[in-house]
Formats: sequence, structure tokens, C-alpha cells
Amino acid sequence: MTEKEVDIIILGGGVAGLWILNALTAEGYSVVLLEKQKLGQGQTICAQGIVHGGFKYVVPGKYRQGTASEVRNMPQRWREHCSGQRKNPDLSGLQINSPSCYFWLSKGRGLRGVFEEAFSTVGIGLLNSPPVDVTDSVPLWLKKSAAKIYAVPEQVIDSSALLQELAKFNLSQIYYFDSVSFIKERDRVRSVSVKEQKTGEEITFSAQAFLLTAGIGNQELVEAMGYPQTVMQIRPLRQLLVSGNGLPELWGHCIDGGKAVASVTTHKNPRTGEKVWNIGGEIAENGYKQDPEVLIREGRALLEKLLSGVDFSQTKWSTFDALRAEEPNDNLLPSGVSIRQIENIFVCFPTKMAMAPVLADQIVLLLEKEHIVKTEHIFERKGELHVAPYPWEDKF
Ligand SMILES: Cc1cc2nc3c(=O)[nH]c(=O)nc-3n(C[C@H](O)[C@H](O)[C@H](O)COP(=O)(O)OP(=O)(O)OC[C@H]3O[C@@H](n4cnc5c(N)ncnc54)[C@H](O)[C@@H]3O)c2cc1C
Repeated sequence: MTEKEVDIIILGGGVAGLWILNALTAEGYSVVLLEKQKLGQGQTICAQGIVHGGFKYVVPGKYRQGTASEVRNMPQRWREHCSGQRKNPDLSGLQINSPSCYFWLSKGRGLRGVFEEAFSTVGIGLLNSPPVDVTDSVPLWLKKSAAKIYAVPEQVIDSSALLQELAKFNLSQIYYFDSVSFIKERDRVRSVSVKEQKTGEEITFSAQAFLLTAGIGNQELVEAMGYPQTVMQIRPLRQLLVSGNGLPELWGHCIDGGKAVASVTTHKNPRTGEKVWNIGGEIAENGYKQDPEVLIREGRALLEKLLSGVDFSQTKWSTFDALRAEEPNDNLLPSGVSIRQIENIFVCFPTKMAMAPVLADQIVLLLEKEHIVKTEHIFERKGELHVAPYPWEDKF
């Protein structure tokens, strides 16, 4: 058995844990990240990759003033990392799928084409830049589908590429394990023993602080550490998938009757080489209550109506399920990031992928306040990159 002493242990390697790993390493802490499965398994790999700037949250039927205010600086913050102007993490190697998103107002229902139907004007006032009317400059298939189309500067990134970029600078600090147990000293967690996935080697890491960024795994970790309290809520989604190379590239949200009924992002299936649309929004929030076959039938009929300019005749359809793990908030989207401290344990939820940088900033400040001592540690092992597969890889 090997024993290692570090300053901080992070449990869970999704966007939150990996972003924090970069930030704390740059601050001079010796830190390891322990991952139970593959990086991003659970939520990050399922994410549509939209770096929200708040527009989705000022659509009247989804109005969340708190969330809109919290995320409004995120597109600019991510642009700085993606251009390499801001480091830790340096995301200049990350390819941007789209620099902006569309909001298109559906045809044929309610007060169509009226700006106020699509966006709360009070909410728009909270955001950094107004949506731009691009109705006359979008491709014909989209123009044919919509009453009015706006563009907002919210970039879209690929979740798998993001996980790779976030992990690549600190691979030697990432360990994949099968089983875990915690050791307490004077009522505080002091060490964690893990069995490495590849070698089966038992390693015991000791640290001053433990950061829980395991998404849906946070609850079981808190309990395994000996604390009974409820630390999270789970909100399920059943996303709709469409596959076919005839699909156009689309990133954006369809607004119908004051609601964001469908959010569409375009991806690639690495197994088949085909394009895949990952469709969320209201359709997925209600979809988890539906039988997958019913969701496909009704979802397809809706999409054919909302995107009448798209030819769906050569497409295949499927669904996948995902669980959103967040701090408890009456089953509603919490407004910002969340960090709950229990002794020397910090239970973290970014709430949205887009807000991972804010979570990392807050953790850096908190650990300074906690006077966590920084020690030098050279990580000489090679490390490996194991990113979770996309949820659509085995669907078509
Ligand atoms: C379908 C879907 C679409 C989304 N789209 C967007 C979007 O477009 N934009 C946006 O901003 N947000 C989006 N989100 C939200 C976003 O994905 C999440 O807020 C974010 O990815 C959460 O990251 P995380 O690192 O906290 O958790 P996760 O990504 O779930 O990562 C947790 C990690 O911990 C590991 N783990 C689990 N249990 C343990 C354990 N016991 N010990 C150690 N490790 C463990 C997991 O394997 C995983 O690697 C979406 C979410 C879903 C579900």
C-alpha cells in the first residue's frame, strides 16, 4: 500500500472538479483528483455545451432573474480562457462549435414575432448585450421555419473536447479508482483510501481539505464520510436525439408561447461519423415523464412543426436520460453556484457548466480563508486520459 500526503483532494472529474484542479494547482497547492468512473460521466459529457449568458432565463416562461444575473458574464469569461488571454485553465486548444446561439420564434401561435413574447424586457435589461435580429441573414431553411430570429453571443463548446482540454495539463494528478473508504481523525476526515482501477494498487491519500465535485455522487460521498445530511436535489431530463447527415448545423432555442420549448445543439457521433442533434429544453424537462417511444413520436411531430424548413425524412430518432445534481432548492434551478462546508469538506455544485469558473474562483477564496497550507509536491507519474463516451454513441 502507498501513502501520499497532499494539501487538497478533489473527488469527481467533471467540469467542476477539473476546472478547480487547474485553478488550485496554479495557486501552488498540491492537489489530486480522484475519479470513480470516467471524466465527465454523469452530467458534463451530456451537456449541450452552451455557455449561457442569461438569455434563456429571460424568456418569460422560464424567467429566473437570479440565474440570468449570475451567468451574464460567463460568455466573456470563457472567451478569455478560449483565446488564451486568461489562463488556469488555458483553453486556447478548445474548438468552439458555434460563437453564438439563435433564439427563433415559432410560426403560427400566439403573439408571434413580438419581441416581448420572446424576452422579458426587464430581464433583457439585466444582461450584457441585447439580442440582434438576424431574421434576414440566416440560412433559408431556418428563415422558412420561424417568424423572427435573434442571435445572442453565447458560444457553444463540445463537452468531450472541453474535458480533454481541462484534464491535459494535470494528468499526473488524476487517479481513477474502484473503491473508496475514508479515515477520520478527531472527527474530521483526514484520509481517503482508494483501489486504483488499472493496477488494483491500494493508495491512501491524506489532505487538509476535501472538495466534493462528484455531481450525483456527492450525496453518497458525504454519507460515506459519516454525515447524514441531504446535500442535493436531482432533476431528471430525457433528451431527444436525432441523427442524420442531412441535418443542418443548429445551435439555439425555439421560443413558442413564451417558453423555450426546444434547445437544439449539433454534435458528431464518433462511432458512425453522423451528425446528431441533442435536444433539450421543455421537451426534455417534461420528457422524463413520458415513455421514450411516446417522446420520440410527439417530439418528432413538434420538431417538424417548429423547424418546418428542415427535411427530417432520412433521420433516426432516440432518447437518453440524464440527472442534474444541484443544491436543494425546492426542485427548481438554483440561481448560482453552491458550496456547502461541513468541517473540512466542501460540497460543490456549479449548477451549470457555464458557471464552473465562478465555482473555482470561490473555492480559491474559501481555501485562503481556511488557511490551507501550501506544500510543494512533484507528481512524477504519467497519468492517463479517460473521458466518458457521449450518451448518443451507442444509440444509433
Ligand atoms: C442533458 C444536459 C444538458 C446540459 N446542458 C448544459 C449547457 O448547455 N450549458 C450549461 O452550462 N450546463 C448544461 N448542463 C448542466 C451541466 O452539465 C452541469 O451543471 C455540469 O456538467 C455539472 O458538472 P459537475 O462537474 O458538477 O458534475 P458531473 O459532470 O456530473 O461530474 C461528476 C464527476 O464525478 C464522478 N463521480 C461520480 N461519483 C463519484 C464518486 N463517488 N467519487 C468520485 N468521483 C465520482 C463522475 O464520474 C464525474 O466524472 C446540462 C446538463 C444536462 C444533464
